[in-house]
Amino acid sequence: MKLSIEAATGLVQWYDTNKRPLPWRDTGNPYDVWLSEIMLQQTRIEAVREKYILIHNTLPDIASLAACDEQTLLRLWEGLGYYTRARNLHRCAITLMEQYGGKLPADYEQLLKLPGIGPYTAGAISSIAFGIPVPAVDGNVMRVIARLFEITEDVRNPSTKAMIEEMISSLFTTVRDAHFVSSFNQGIMELGETVCLPNGEPHCYKCPLQHYCKAMKTGSWKQLPYRSPLRKRTIQNRTLLIIRDSDRFLIHKRPSTGLLAGMYEFYGVDEHLSRKQAIEKAGELGFFPLSIHSLPSSKHIFTHLEWHMKAYEIIVADASDFCKDDFLLVDAKQLADLPIPSAFRTYTYTYALRTEKNG
Ligand code: SF4
Repeated sequence: MKLSIEAATGLVQWYDTNKRPLPWRDTGNPYDVWLSEIMLQQTRIEAVREKYILIHNTLPDIASLAACDEQTLLRLWEGLGYYTRARNLHRCAITLMEQYGGKLPADYEQLLKLPGIGPYTAGAISSIAFGIPVPAVDGNVMRVIARLFEITEDVRNPSTKAMIEEMISSLFTTVRDAHFVSSFNQGIMELGETVCLPNGEPHCYKCPLQHYCKAMKTGSWKQLPYRSPLRKRTIQNRTLLIIRDSDRFLIHKRPSTGLLAGMYEFYGVDEHLSRKQAIEKAGELGFFPLSIHSLPSSKHIFTHLEWHMKAYEIIVADASDFCKDDFLLVDAKQLADLPIPSAFRTYTYTYALRTEKNG
């Protein structure tokens, strides 16, 4: 299997003519490529676009990102999920300021050593920002190539990805021009996002690769790419206790490692509690509830886990003396400024702590 130069050149020309105008595209700034690539990991372009503009306007370069405090970045990041990305972005910016003169290195291997930058992102930054001839293979690229050559191997298998990377590397040994490299890598991703679609019928009639594509000829695009089934998500029942007095809410800070590390949350336990049990739990924390109200249930889906949440609002007389590690008492204004994951969106909306739908 070999990508022909004619097919690749057709793709580059198609991309140069048809690419969507995106705020991070063609700015000539490696920071923009890096920031957008991190934000786009496992997140749709539509969800990223406005957030990208907000974060970029607030933190326009590596120096400002490194200088901001992590909580500010997490607050800006709210709604995008996968908060480890934001933490790594911050750590990486600090490393770049301390060790790389405030610039992203124009070197694939050095990029790989930086926090939060794996092979795909290093390939994307290298090729898009610096024109370095290395592949950047994501799910879109794998789908297009699997259909183009009717590759039936499991795309979850690292050896399938390695084979596709090898194919693109081999193309780049023949054509090393920086514009070609950048437009080819972006073009094949763009094709996967806009033409060779993951769900539903691909728009083969407008595909620049249609004359080379085996799956189009045989109709096998329906089965490709092949992905072995994922293991089922674990369901975790939770009960949130939203404990408050007239002025303040009790907020818990999650542990510094693991799921939603270091984020703030409404205190919760990993089981469904009855009202009576919820009152007892509040008592164990040292509160004497005056009243308790059920709030709407909600569900939040992580990659391998689903939280099925019940919630109670528990009113207490005065929480002033409460003092315990990892807990805070904050008023509504302070609470609105804390990074609270979108998993708790139902309840931040209940208290009008958040207003924007993606916030
Ligand atoms: S011809 Fe169709 S199936 Fe083949 S790569 Fe293009 S859009 Fe995908």
